[in-house]
This record gives sequence, structure tokens and C-alpha cells, in this order.
Amino acid sequence: MTTNLEKALKIREIAKEHNEYFKDSIPLIASENVMSPLALEMLLTDLGSRYAEGLPHHRYYQGNQFVDQIEDLAIEYANSLFKSKQADPRPISGTNANIAAIYGLTKPGDKITVPPLSGGGHISAAKFGAVGLRGLDSSDYPFDNDEMNLDVDAAIKLIREKKPKVCLFGQSVFLFPTPIKDLMDAIREVDAKVWYDGAHVLGLIAGGRFQDPLREGADIITASTHKTFPGPQHGIILGNTGDETWKSVQRGVFPGSLSNHHLNAMAALAVTLAEELEYGAVYASRIIENAKTLAQSLNEEGFKVLGEKKGFTESHTLVVDVRAQGGGKQSAELLEKCNIVLNKNLLPWDTSKNSQDPSGLRIGTQEVTRIGFGKSEMKEIAKIMGDLLIRHADPESIRSRAETLKSNFREIKYCFGKHEAYKYIEIIKM
Ligand SMILES: *Cc1c(COP(=O)(O)O)cnc(C)c1O
Repeated sequence: MTTNLEKALKIREIAKEHNEYFKDSIPLIASENVMSPLALEMLLTDLGSRYAEGLPHHRYYQGNQFVDQIEDLAIEYANSLFKSKQADPRPISGTNANIAAIYGLTKPGDKITVPPLSGGGHISAAKFGAVGLRGLDSSDYPFDNDEMNLDVDAAIKLIREKKPKVCLFGQSVFLFPTPIKDLMDAIREVDAKVWYDGAHVLGLIAGGRFQDPLREGADIITASTHKTFPGPQHGIILGNTGDETWKSVQRGVFPGSLSNHHLNAMAALAVTLAEELEYGAVYASRIIENAKTLAQSLNEEGFKVLGEKKGFTESHTLVVDVRAQGGGKQSAELLEKCNIVLNKNLLPWDTSKNSQDPSGLRIGTQEVTRIGFGKSEMKEIAKIMGDLLIRHADPESIRSRAETLKSNFREIKYCFGKHEAYKYIEIIKM
């Protein structure tokens, strides 16, 4: 008989094993990151036990005077980092931010144009995701597999034909900036709102890299705050739009799609915004440098890395066609056994039929960059992957090489360093 205390402690044990596994692993999932000690500390504060509904200084509950101060500052830091006119740090995830945007920008039955799933679009923009939940009439932009980007001419044609209420841009596989500027004439002709989903690339935008959607014509950016932006699992909406549109988007946040907004995570987000004001530019540059180096090195190892004719990538992400190495499923699982964590991914020619065993692997360099990996570590990762997947080296020896590579990188960079809370945080996280 296990006691209930043992049941509780069992969870704790498993969580510790999880930490151990990640401590010894090379994290290459393109949508993940680790938080700074100062941000992480915020998650453990009393803020995580409280409610705040509505906007700062107009709440429905008492006890929010400090929450209001934090939220005001989060908005101020966000507007300063992203040069936005408006910011809302309340969405509790990227999907939540998207639902709020859909709620704020559209009515049921409205038309929307979206990036296709097979071109890296996110499920929240799919008919079986949030877009479908609102009953929108959605059309996919045609994708150019060669360019690994939207097909500009075909997208212009689609926008002129459909006259959508909203044009959505931004993907989960995002190698090159979206050519928003080239589409703006057509978008203005049909008077559509421009919504950019920057979940993956928010940290690159924060650093002034990749692209600057608010200057290129976007009315709003929605995003997760934990992918290239190295904050808590949370969301944000940034605006450069009219007051009426912004008000309507904010009503989409509350009361549209959440009541409480996870105040501890919002505080962690505010801390991370401040850290990004300090370190965002150099961090973003290193992430992209590393992605380019890893792509080039994998190519030299004999892998088929997509986007070759355009230099493989301008973001944190690269995608590899591993059909010749046994496919996405088998390759990702073999790597996982060797402590290299990444995911299988649909490539543009895949269909939902082979979504369980797609052609590709997706790799992101944002997290390894954050713990200090540089060019030589990128080359070593490529070599390790080549030895395992192309030259079929013994998995046990590969695992030990991955562990050794990781063992020299235990500290989080591009953030404020050893705070008082660091020791405690080290126990639960590192
Ligand atoms: C990850 C992602 C989201 C959703 O973010 P969550 O924070 O996981 O809800 C939305 N859009 C895109 C393009 C994404 O990649």
C-alpha cells in the first residue's frame, strides 16, 4: 500500500528524473527555452495564488495594488522593447493570445487568410483549431517549397480574390521573414487587418533581427513568450493600431478568453522584458549565427537541409529532410535515446496522412545558444547527428558524447546573473 504522502513524493521523484534527463541532454526543440534565475523566482511568489480581472486600476477584486504596478511596468517595458503603441501582457499562452485576436478582429463567418499547416502554420490557425472554433471562412496562402516561404504572387491573388477581413502571417516553422511589405498594396486595397503571429520569433524581433512586423504593416502581433523570447510560458499581444481595434482585441483577452491572467507568469514576463532590453540584441544575433552554422555543418555531414539556395535559414529554426535516414519518426526517436531532443516535423510536401511519420526534423538553436553553445558546439552536434543517423555509430557511444558536450554548459546566459534566489533555483531547475 502506498500512502498518499508517497504518492505525492513519487511525482517529485519523477520530476527530478526529468530534470536530470534534461541536464544531460541537448535541447533542440524550436519552441522551448529556459528562464533566467530572476524570472524563475517570480513564479514562486505569492502572485501565483492571486486573481486580477480586467485592466490595471480597473479591477474587479481587491488586493491588486502591486499587481497593477507590475502590469503597468510590463506594458511600459514591452512598448519600449518592441516600439509598439500598445501592449497587453495578460494572455496566458500564445494560443490564448490568438483566440483573443480572433475574437477581437473577427465575427463568425468572416474571411481570413492563413499560412498552410504544411508550410509551418500553427494549429490555432487551422480549421480544427481556434480559427475553426470562431467559424471563420479561412483560405491558405499557397506556399513556395523552393523559397520555403509564402508564394507572393499567388498570395496577392488570393487576397484580392477573397477580400479577407484579416490576413494572418507567422508560422511554427519559420525559416525566412514573411514578405509582408510585398503584400501590403493588396492588403490595403481590400482594407484587411494585418495580424502577425510571432510566437516563434518574438525573441528575434525583440533583438531587432528577422523582421519588424509593426513597421512593415502589422496592426497586431500575438506571441508566446517562451520560445525565442526566453520568458515564462505565457503570451503577449503588441499593437500598432487604432484605439477601436485595440480596445476590441483587449476585450478579446478579457472577458473574451480568460479571467485571471497568471500573475506570477506576468511578473516573470516583465522581468524577462527588462533583461531583453539589456541582452536581446546580442542574444538574437547569436541564435541566428548558430542556426546558420548548424545548418551548414549538417549539410556538410550529408544531410539534406531545406532552404539551401537561400542560405538555409534567417531564424532560429532549420529543417532537415531525413527520408533517406529512415524518416522523421525513427530519426527523432533514435536521437532522443541519445539525449538529443528535437521533433519530427511535416515538410511542405507532407500531408496529414503521414503526420505521424513525416519527412523532416525541426531544429531550433535558441535554447542551446542561451546556455552558451557557439560555433564549435554547433559543428559537434552536426557530427554527432551524422555519426548516428548516417554512419550508424553505436547509440551508447553517441549518448555519452552528447552528455559530455552538454556537461560544460550549465549556466544561463544573456540575463542578469547570480541573484540571491539562484541557489534555490539551481536545485529545482538546473
Ligand atoms: C507555439 C505557437 C503558438 C501557440 O503558442 P502556445 O504558447 O503554445 O499556446 C501559436 N502560434 C504559433 C505560430 C506557434 O508556433
